[in-house]
Amino acid sequence: MNRRSLAREAVLAAEHVLAETGLSPGDPVPIFDLIEDRGIWLSFEAGLDRLLGTYLRIGDTAGIALNAARPLALQRFTAAHELGHHELGHESHLDLEATITDRSQDPKEFQAQTFAASLLMSELSVEAQLEHWGHDPDHPDLSATDVYSISAELGVSYQATVTQLRVLGKIPVVSAQELWKVHPRQIKQMLLGGRRPDQQWASVRRLTLADHQRAVELNVADEIDIALPEMPESGYEWVLPSDIGDRFALVNDRHQPSDADLRGTLFGAADARHVTLKACKPGRTRLEFFSRRPGDECEAGAPLTIHAVTRPLPVSELGQGISTNQHDQLLARASA
Ligand SMILES: [Zn+2]
Repeated sequence: MNRRSLAREAVLAAEHVLAETGLSPGDPVPIFDLIEDRGIWLSFEAGLDRLLGTYLRIGDTAGIALNAARPLALQRFTAAHELGHHELGHESHLDLEATITDRSQDPKEFQAQTFAASLLMSELSVEAQLEHWGHDPDHPDLSATDVYSISAELGVSYQATVTQLRVLGKIPVVSAQELWKVHPRQIKQMLLGGRRPDQQWASVRRLTLADHQRAVELNVADEIDIALPEMPESGYEWVLPSDIGDRFALVNDRHQPSDADLRGTLFGAADARHVTLKACKPGRTRLEFFSRRPGDECEAGAPLTIHAVTRPLPVSELGQGISTNQHDQLLARASA
């Protein structure tokens, strides 16, 4: 089979899996759940060193092990790669760094890579994301921050997103080369006004009043930076959500002169108060930001409400072992 046919087969296999999920284009793919739903054993291992993941098949039993010491986005991509070996009927595979992060010449590795990218960043999903961020889905003109935002929404790495945008023909080679030079660490630091996220691998989202009523999916340790326009002469001030419990922590509260990021706000470009919250515990949290004048009651209806969903970690707090869901299933079976 030539490369084009190999890629076609892998893309079709990914589309087949996606069709069963009922996800809308642009949604992040719950890759660990997909693997468990197929009855494949899933475990997260520390100490795999340069091994990013393995796919093992013995008779009717299949298992995937992932390197738990790597960033979650890379674990997710590796998981999709290993699921690719499974769905495409490949035999057991050990995947070193080079097979996951570079382009491999091995036909099966090439197929597993194509499967992973097509599953986590299908053409429809990428186009839905481009539209969401206000770009022409056919000819987007993307900054590194735009690409980073899409990668954070889809739960994939910045580099994998640049590669897929190029593969899908959304950006020319020269743009991809420029984007590849940017390190996501720089983008996160810029979004956080110079500060680095508490956890190096955490993803960072910038939200404004234009994101009112939006649902945001997060992982533990991810940070959201909320830009709240300030008009000191109006006397109004922001009241931060009070009932966040231990699900979120306020990690920064700073004042920043006006910038172009306050797109579409009711207040036009104003100086902004930037509030950074870090997701600490899984669960659903309604984050409501009210404005009021000192002494007044809060006005009815918050100008900014964010529906945050923080996903549980796929493994126990030890950070390794069999997936939490399968661990619970085994316990239930053992006690039945
Ligand atoms: Zn592989």
